[in-house]
Amino acid sequence: MKVDSQLPTEDISMPMWLLVINPISGGRRKADMTEKIIQFLKVHHIRTHAFFLSGFQDSGHIRHWINSLAPDRVVAIGGDGTANLVAQCIRQTNIPMGIIPAGSANGLALDLGIPRDLDQALEVLIRGQDKPLDMLVLNDKFYSLHLSDAGLNANLIWRFEQSGQRGSWSYFKEMIRGLVRINSFAVRLYCNGKHYRSRAVMLAFANGSRYGSGAVLNPGGQPDDGKFEVCLIRSVKWYRIPALAWHLFRGNVHATPELKTWSTDYAYIRLKRKVLLQADGEILGHHNHIEVKVEHDALRCRR
Ligand SMILES: [Mg+2]
Repeated sequence: MKVDSQLPTEDISMPMWLLVINPISGGRRKADMTEKIIQFLKVHHIRTHAFFLSGFQDSGHIRHWINSLAPDRVVAIGGDGTANLVAQCIRQTNIPMGIIPAGSANGLALDLGIPRDLDQALEVLIRGQDKPLDMLVLNDKFYSLHLSDAGLNANLIWRFEQSGQRGSWSYFKEMIRGLVRINSFAVRLYCNGKHYRSRAVMLAFANGSRYGSGAVLNPGGQPDDGKFEVCLIRSVKWYRIPALAWHLFRGNVHATPELKTWSTDYAYIRLKRKVLLQADGEILGHHNHIEVKVEHDALRCRR
């Protein structure tokens, strides 16, 4: 019997990890990074298959590779959007995931304690533990692993996508404009067996605690406790904005009367007019009702 010398038998017995890479932010740097990750994993006797997102039927392609390779792990190399995409593809399987933060927004990795530094993130990927993560299901068809919201922040993300602007300073300026402009909407919230009515400029559903920018919306939020937080921000008087920003970035939101939070495992929201919704940075269109459920222990992630 002839043995193919290029495929030693021990190779087949080695674990196979599928790498899902978002190449959009970073370009050449991302190719170098991927090569480094592949070499690192090879040293640890792990085979890899690299798949680069193209923005065209990505989840279909990821599912195809999961079915044909039967990987032992799927690693998201990118930001919150990439992690969300991978999570959606593995939530019905028993395959654990890993995250290498390499996107423009890495709020989830920040929340999970996965370092931004590549070498340190690789150490976590090899030596960390697979711990459960919840997912939020919105209107039975959208998924959020980290933070989703309706109103102000979703509008900001949408406007940024349109203008192609980058950088935290222009984001900050847009946020101030959005806060000052009277763009609030009427909210009827049902959760924990009670009804609430309020006006809001933003309504967030938080599985995590902070945005990639560092703003802490939901201090104490746990991504694995079977609950999420509904965070409502009422309209803000212009002279209150410095104080609000200060408290948000200090993680001291409970000192701001404009923010109210409910912890629950189910919420139903009716909005008087249609408001733009986003989940983990992905724009999901305008909605006038939002139902949020938690899928407890939806998947496992190394951290
Ligand atoms: Mg939670």
